[in-house]
Amino acid sequence: MYTVIHQFYMIPSLRKDILSIHNDHFEQISKENSLIYHLKEIFQVHDEETDESVSVEAFCKVFTEVNSKIQVDAANFLLDLISKIDKEAQTLNLPLSLEECFKGEFENKVTSKTCNLEKTINEDFIIIPVSIEKLKNLDESLEMFFMREALAHNNYYYCEQCNMKHEALLERNLKKIPNYLIFEMKRAIFDLDILYPSLIDSSHELPNTLNIQSYTKNNHSQIEKEENKYQDEREESHYKLSGVVIYQGTEKSGKYSSLIRDREAQDKWYKVDRDGKKEFDHENISRLAFENPKESWAHLVIYDKIQTSNFHIYEREP
Ligand SMILES: [Zn+2]
Repeated sequence: MYTVIHQFYMIPSLRKDILSIHNDHFEQISKENSLIYHLKEIFQVHDEETDESVSVEAFCKVFTEVNSKIQVDAANFLLDLISKIDKEAQTLNLPLSLEECFKGEFENKVTSKTCNLEKTINEDFIIIPVSIEKLKNLDESLEMFFMREALAHNNYYYCEQCNMKHEALLERNLKKIPNYLIFEMKRAIFDLDILYPSLIDSSHELPNTLNIQSYTKNNHSQIEKEENKYQDEREESHYKLSGVVIYQGTEKSGKYSSLIRDREAQDKWYKVDRDGKKEFDHENISRLAFENPKESWAHLVIYDKIQTSNFHIYEREP
């Protein structure tokens, strides 16, 4: 949990936003009951750069009070954290929205020859779950994720037009891309022979940069592209690797650590875990992330959008 929070801390704009909230704002619900206040406290300790380990007890207390579910998974924790923070920010009337940083939108197109169906369904996302099974790198995982999918056999589409289930094609595009793209690397697969999820024994690579142009809506529809000539999103579709949350352990128990790029110091990376924060050689990211997929793997991966205005010089605070 602490390692996920640190991923947020290392996003300069987010850190600045949280740290700049005046404590008076929390009085409405009292500081002790405020998740954002405790998050700010954690951020402050980091900012002072003391070697002392940060106590996250107070934060956890509020977090679990507003949420009775037990958090076992970094992806669920992250989604929960974003929704709790945003909800509280609304209550407190704070101009803070984590969703704005992380939320994107898919456009799912369902077509069927059975009844000439053409339906578009928009779907919000914060995390994109991709498979890593037998795939070399994240590019291949994304290709797989956005591959046209036949809805047939055990997975027929329920057509409202025909009021029955029948075959259809599902095509998924990115309609809106967030500033920070989060991927969940799905390791567990369902093994039909032994009827329980087995772990994937494969290594995987995380590229330093990612171009998602071919999965955006603009790329798929030539007509729409011509209609929107003024909007060249090519540069907007480039992303840079900035964070990895690594899980070490078995399906039942384990621990998390985070690898995070210092966005204000170009390619300086840190490793954050229970023992603290240490500099990390970024050449070793893929190796550490998938060194032994049975025991340790990159569960969450964060990529930052490279803004057109600073396509070459990356995000720096003034
Ligand atoms: Zn139909």
